[in-house]
Amino acid sequence: MKICVVGVGYVGLVTAACLAEAGNKVTCVDNNSDKIEGLKNGVIPIYEPGLTEMVKRNDKLGRLIFTTDLKQGVDDSLIIFIGVGTPSAPDGSADISAVLAVADGIAQNITDYRIIVTKSTVPIGTHKKVIDLIKSKTNTPFDYVSNPEFLREGSAIDDYMRPERIIVGTENPAVREIMKQLYDPFMRKSNRILFMHTVSAELAKYAANAMLATRISFMNEISALCDQIGADVELIRQGIGTDSRIGPSFLFPGVGFGGSCLPKDVRALVHTGAENGVNMALVKAVLEVNSAQQERFTKRVTDYFAGREADATLAVWGLAFKAKTDDVRESPALNCIKKFLDCGMKVKAYDPEAGPPAVEALNGKIELCQNGYDALEGSDALVIFTEWQEFRNPDLEAIAVRLNKPVIFDGKNLFDPQNVQKAGFEYYSVGR
Ligand code: NAD
Repeated sequence: MKICVVGVGYVGLVTAACLAEAGNKVTCVDNNSDKIEGLKNGVIPIYEPGLTEMVKRNDKLGRLIFTTDLKQGVDDSLIIFIGVGTPSAPDGSADISAVLAVADGIAQNITDYRIIVTKSTVPIGTHKKVIDLIKSKTNTPFDYVSNPEFLREGSAIDDYMRPERIIVGTENPAVREIMKQLYDPFMRKSNRILFMHTVSAELAKYAANAMLATRISFMNEISALCDQIGADVELIRQGIGTDSRIGPSFLFPGVGFGGSCLPKDVRALVHTGAENGVNMALVKAVLEVNSAQQERFTKRVTDYFAGREADATLAVWGLAFKAKTDDVRESPALNCIKKFLDCGMKVKAYDPEAGPPAVEALNGKIELCQNGYDALEGSDALVIFTEWQEFRNPDLEAIAVRLNKPVIFDGKNLFDPQNVQKAGFEYYSVGR
């Protein structure tokens, strides 16, 4: 099939590469000309395992085309995916202006029947806004599909190639058939496509992210109680995660959730509730617990250095909001580091992939190190924010030798407290 993907970020580029891998011809459109120039020259703008090889392979075979020209994409494709960003507006709602700008561009260029598909996470009712906008500008026939994306950064290729389910929201049976054909290569073992009305597809995405965020906040709230009463949240996690009605996923306590999706989508759901007269009490609480957890962790560090903040240097391991990505959007690490810097502390940081975007987001106010051990030299404590595999089994002796004093604040519960304490560290983790 001939496909166009508009917006080649984390979702759009993975979508385009995986659809090309299945044999489709995909035109990738982005209004960031640097990004498109880079892609034409084989520069992949993000870190995502397996993506570089897949993009290069399909580019070489002529199945991926990169352009800033939306007309080229619209002319040359039956299905047009919209994968642009939908960031939080100041009132917490999702800002869909980029989606509407693309819809407007499609309306101006469409000359023959097309299927327009939103991959972006868009609030309930966006389908009507897009459809009305296009209809107000053209008589060319088109169909609209809501097809929210569930890939996870860090395992995006695998998630796309072997999805647990694909949600397709459309009222038109003929379009369902075309979408089924498109996705058949990704569902060889069994049919995992779920058709539903557009409005349900839109809400399903927000409900999924709010549920995941709820599990994290629930465990973080339990971890706060554990800290008070001396219980071990890791044992609680195992104790409840082995119950098949609960299951083990998304039960890890830590410094709170972040990233480009969970916080903004939970905020947007609260906003949608308010717009429709529904008080989303539980979902609001999820956000409150998340902020409180980040504050609790930050305070533990700042309290430790109270009165001597100006002399303190922290070695930070991990800047990305989670492992296996370079994404620092709403990363708890950055939120906490900003507070450390505000207190007058210095920060030497290391992240395997997210260093440059983090330095940019923090206006160059941290010192970036080439590896984790360099960050420790002359620092007063190690603070861990991201669960990168390489942080899990470090040389504790080498850490102790480099730090001015052996102190670790572990926001991801990476180590066994007994082992670390035996090695002479003061060790502060979450809920243990
Ligand atoms: P991103 O910021 O990485 O990518 C968005 C891209 O759209 C950028 O390259 C930007 O230049 C481009 N763009 C913006 N306006 C444009 C326009 N008018 N014309 C052409 N290109 C334009 O964003 P992302 O993380 O890929 O997220 C995209 C959407 O997918 C969001 O709605 C997000 O909530 C959703 N989503 C993201 C993830 C994820 O893990 N990142 C997962 C599921 C869903």
